Amino acid sequence: MGVPWVLGLVLSSFVPVRPARAAAVGEATAGTSERTWVTHEILPGETYEDIGARYGVSKKEILRWNAKRLGPKKWLIAGKKLRIYARRVPPAPVLSTYVVRKGDTYAKIAAKFGMREEALRRLNRRSKGRGKKLYVGQTLRVYVQPEPPQPPADAGPLPEFSVPAGSYAHGKPNRGRLIGGVQVTSNDDFTVRNPDRAYATSHAALVLRRAMADFRRRSGYRGTVLVADISKRGGGRLRPHRSHQTGRDIDIRLPKLEGIPAGKYPSMDEIDWVATWHMVAAFVDTGEVEYIFLDYRRQRRLYRAARRLGVSEDRLRQVMQYPRGPKATQGIVRHSKGHTIHMHVRIKCAEDAPSCVSY
Ligand SMILES: [Zn+2]
Repeated sequence: MGVPWVLGLVLSSFVPVRPARAAAVGEATAGTSERTWVTHEILPGETYEDIGARYGVSKKEILRWNAKRLGPKKWLIAGKKLRIYARRVPPAPVLSTYVVRKGDTYAKIAAKFGMREEALRRLNRRSKGRGKKLYVGQTLRVYVQPEPPQPPADAGPLPEFSVPAGSYAHGKPNRGRLIGGVQVTSNDDFTVRNPDRAYATSHAALVLRRAMADFRRRSGYRGTVLVADISKRGGGRLRPHRSHQTGRDIDIRLPKLEGIPAGKYPSMDEIDWVATWHMVAAFVDTGEVEYIFLDYRRQRRLYRAARRLGVSEDRLRQVMQYPRGPKATQGIVRHSKGHTIHMHVRIKCAEDAPSCVSY
């Protein structure tokens, strides 16, 4: 999964030129929260969102550290340098070239490389072309994100978890019960907001423990992760939700950028979208997740963060509904109104739960 086209493309159409000059000083240690000062050289078309996501910092912080350099208009000018107190330093993107093929557009090529279209256009503003139109065989400059190993090679196996057996879902998520609910409790990986609303099936409880442990080791995220509503002890209606009736629906707050106070309602810029991607991926890779509900506009941020991490287009197509539109019926991550600061994970029916109805 994910390998075929990327590899094909590497062999056929790009020639690495040199590492991006934006390469931050210091070794790449994605996943640790030891903060370091780095110098970032602004890339063409780069936005505060791009830079913030890369280093795990907010726009507000970037502005604070660079007030003088940026001046009153706060424009990001390619080639200028910024000082960043980074929470993570991922490998820098590599400047390469791409040869335009039949049917390519700026938008398509940008999507391929996880760039924004505007950034791709700016990077190639001076390239020889017939006006602004692309032609087959034209050489463009692109940034390639190195794909990180998942999970990291040094991570080791996940610990074994055990949860009490004998708890099953009965019926549909929005019309059902929970038989013998297992109470999920706080642990090293996550905090349970309200234990009275945190009963799950045995299967869902186990998937949650595994996925969260995997999330922590993939992302190195050290902030608090809050598990909100799952189900009541016996299931059934749990206000204000329609689903959450059978112990298979789990609400989880999106991880915030470290340093954002725990009680604060986060803005879009205060969510750690890279960590959020790792969380989504950890759940998806259990193979036991039916859907993850997330507001469509948030999906866009998640998608971009994943592309910047070097996640392949194939994998994103499988995991994300975005960019097919909020009504598309593909992808595990689906739009659902109101899921703006939390994701709602629906775990599949367990194999030994005959009266559990998927939907
Ligand atoms: Zn929910």
